[in-house]
Amino acid sequence: MHYFQYSRGELHAEGIPLSRLVKSVGTPAYIYSYQTLVRHFQIFDGAFSALPHLTCYSVKANSNLALLRIFSRLGGGFDIVSQGELARALQAGADPRRIVFSGVGKTETELAAAVRAGVLLINVESVPELLLLSRVAKKCRRRVRISFRLNPDISAESHPYLTTGTPENKFGIDIKQALPVYLRAARLPFLEPAGIDCHIGSQITSLKPFVAVLGKLKGLISRLGRLGINISYLDLGGGLGITYRDEVPPHPDEYARVIGKELKGFPGSPLGITLILEPGRVIVGNAGILVARVLYSKKVGRKEFVITDAGMNDLIRPALYDSFHEIIPVRPRKGPRKKVDVVGPICESGDFFARDRKLPPLRSGDLLAVMGAGAYGFSMSSNYNSRPRAAEVLVRGSRFAVIRRRENQQDLTRGEIIPASLLK
Ligand SMILES: *Cc1c(COP(=O)(O)O)cnc(C)c1O
Repeated sequence: MHYFQYSRGELHAEGIPLSRLVKSVGTPAYIYSYQTLVRHFQIFDGAFSALPHLTCYSVKANSNLALLRIFSRLGGGFDIVSQGELARALQAGADPRRIVFSGVGKTETELAAAVRAGVLLINVESVPELLLLSRVAKKCRRRVRISFRLNPDISAESHPYLTTGTPENKFGIDIKQALPVYLRAARLPFLEPAGIDCHIGSQITSLKPFVAVLGKLKGLISRLGRLGINISYLDLGGGLGITYRDEVPPHPDEYARVIGKELKGFPGSPLGITLILEPGRVIVGNAGILVARVLYSKKVGRKEFVITDAGMNDLIRPALYDSFHEIIPVRPRKGPRKKVDVVGPICESGDFFARDRKLPPLRSGDLLAVMGAGAYGFSMSSNYNSRPRAAEVLVRGSRFAVIRRRENQQDLTRGEIIPASLLK
């Protein structure tokens, strides 16, 4: 559910007609709905209310400070994957004791920053990282709580690029190696193995893989307990899918019900288990759209192309994952629908938003909304072709605010230097 609806022939973001909005902020622009963001967070977090849990929003899905502030105010924690995301979360007002740090290639500097900030857990993904973290913790004279991110050899059954929990993937530690690795960590004086972590992928539309993961982790927690290692945090990662086209992903209530059933009567550690969830896409995906303007239409051979002022640098998901985004005109014109390719201005044939899509008549200047663009949209955008990144706007009721201004020419060349002495 989201709050982008037609009213009097025009698509609105909550109470604001999109044509009015872009008259002020220009195109392309990412538009987010406050009500939708809050609703999605509360539905997800509320679904787990019967269990001790922490909802750590996955910052990489959409890392705008304003969004992070919203989730932080709602009591959310954060799942971060870099020092940059740590700084963002803290800047947005996050409590470090609600931050978990994931990532397969954390540097010494990043680990030290997280240790100094006092994050809740560092999710360690390899033995060399464990040893480096041990040295960092010693240097900082801090006792650091860790989880191991385990690779459970369970497929997310989604796009190959969105699967992270099989031996084909670089993520985590082979679950078969888990016991010796935990025992090794337990002997390191500044580290406290307190958690267990799995994130098997993204855009998962079935509960089966989650249940399979939980089964494996429960067994491991019991075995660790018998060895004197008490696991008090069970992190199931993110990955719950959303509807882009006709997928029917499980509702968060259903997800929570199944997890709760699996955990019923499971003692875990004597202190009990706190569940950690790291949702990204399911919170922000359908809470944001990308609004673009039609520049030209043209026919090449038998194909009809609609060229917009947004490109793959703004939204790379179709090019990267061949993913589907619904595209709808802001003010639909009457007339027969026609099959068109909706493409961007970038010099790449992969620069498309839709192929052979049936759309109502479109003319130069018309506005299009690319739906479901809130997750991995702006956060994956780039300056390719020297294009300034789009503006981001938050709408709440009949008010709106620019939450990231459109980049300009100076932004594009910031940090670049023509080395006069070298080029004499
Ligand atoms: C990307 C990521 C998430 C969020 O995944 P979604 O599919 O957006 O829910 C959670 N945890 C980790 C470790 C991630 O890398």
